[in-house]
Amino acid sequence: MDLRSLTITELRERVARAGEPPFRAEQLFRWLHGPGAGGMGGVRIPHAPSTVPRALRDALLADAPLVPLALDRTVESVDGTRKFRFRTHDDRAVETVLIPDDKQERSKLTLCISCQVGCAWGCAFCATATLGFGRNLTAGEMVEQLYWAMESVGQKPTNIVFMGMGEPLHNLDQVTRALSIIEHPWGAGLSPRRLTVSTAGVVTGLDLLGKVRPLPNLAISLNATTDEVRDRIMPVNRRWNLAALLAAARRFPLGHHRRVTFEYVLFAGVNDSDVDAARLPRLLANIPSKVNLIPWNPVPGLPFERPSEARVLAFQNRVRRADLPVYIRTPRGDDAAAACGQLAARLGETPAGFFDLRITGHVS
Ligand code: SF4
Repeated sequence: MDLRSLTITELRERVARAGEPPFRAEQLFRWLHGPGAGGMGGVRIPHAPSTVPRALRDALLADAPLVPLALDRTVESVDGTRKFRFRTHDDRAVETVLIPDDKQERSKLTLCISCQVGCAWGCAFCATATLGFGRNLTAGEMVEQLYWAMESVGQKPTNIVFMGMGEPLHNLDQVTRALSIIEHPWGAGLSPRRLTVSTAGVVTGLDLLGKVRPLPNLAISLNATTDEVRDRIMPVNRRWNLAALLAAARRFPLGHHRRVTFEYVLFAGVNDSDVDAARLPRLLANIPSKVNLIPWNPVPGLPFERPSEARVLAFQNRVRRADLPVYIRTPRGDDAAAACGQLAARLGETPAGFFDLRITGHVS
């Protein structure tokens, strides 16, 4: 476990074990995660100045060495979307995307954090799936994606979504740590209402996520209205089918006025029919929900096509008739390969190759 993955409670325990006074835990947390730590969020640890005695820092770091990310490359799209590629300490590649609502004002920024190198699930439409599973990222590696993004634009994102490369519920322990670190007022201090965890449908993990406090928002990558289609495009459905997934969503302990976001990537001729549009609200009955429709962003080599604009609008209108909030998500960052539907980073590619990297199927 690297020092940056420890929660404040665990830092307090380590400080106590070292025979140091309790206030050292706050100093340590601020050094590791606070805005004064050598840049916004402290991307220059361990060289940043600190009020923590050197001997204590060295002892703790010897026990839990840092595993920093190195910023390898940044690409900015014409719409202001930025994609960061990082090199991990063991030479793997991870991507993160920062999406502004408005290019001029940058008043609202959404950061999409990766939680794994690659992914084990193998969804048919997802470029991350082509990498296979590499390894889980630590919480420290996840929060550092945030700190680099803050350093890059000089402000905190408004929202953070765990839906980059990987399945967050397959790395729930580290994702939970990252949530608690990001929320802490001595760190980035983001409200849990601004944090979202997105899953492809790992039902056992969903039940565990429901016990996390404070509870983050939940997004589910649905993408089909029948098991037949979902089995084909999302292998997770063969383990937990639609009935099991939606039952888990129904028992998820949503807070007051909160809704589950269902992401629905539209593939021409696969899941975009009027019948699908009519079935979707029936499936989501009794779940406080909203639906994001995401017209597919083509990825070379993958056998899907984007539906026409008219088909997308017809689908939305049909769902809307059932009084279900339904929005069309405009693809962002297309020219930087940072649009929804696809991330797949490999190190050692040329700068031109970098533009071919893709963001994951979870991304919206
Ligand atoms: S869509 Fe999500 S769960 Fe499926 S392969 Fe891609 S990253 Fe993994």
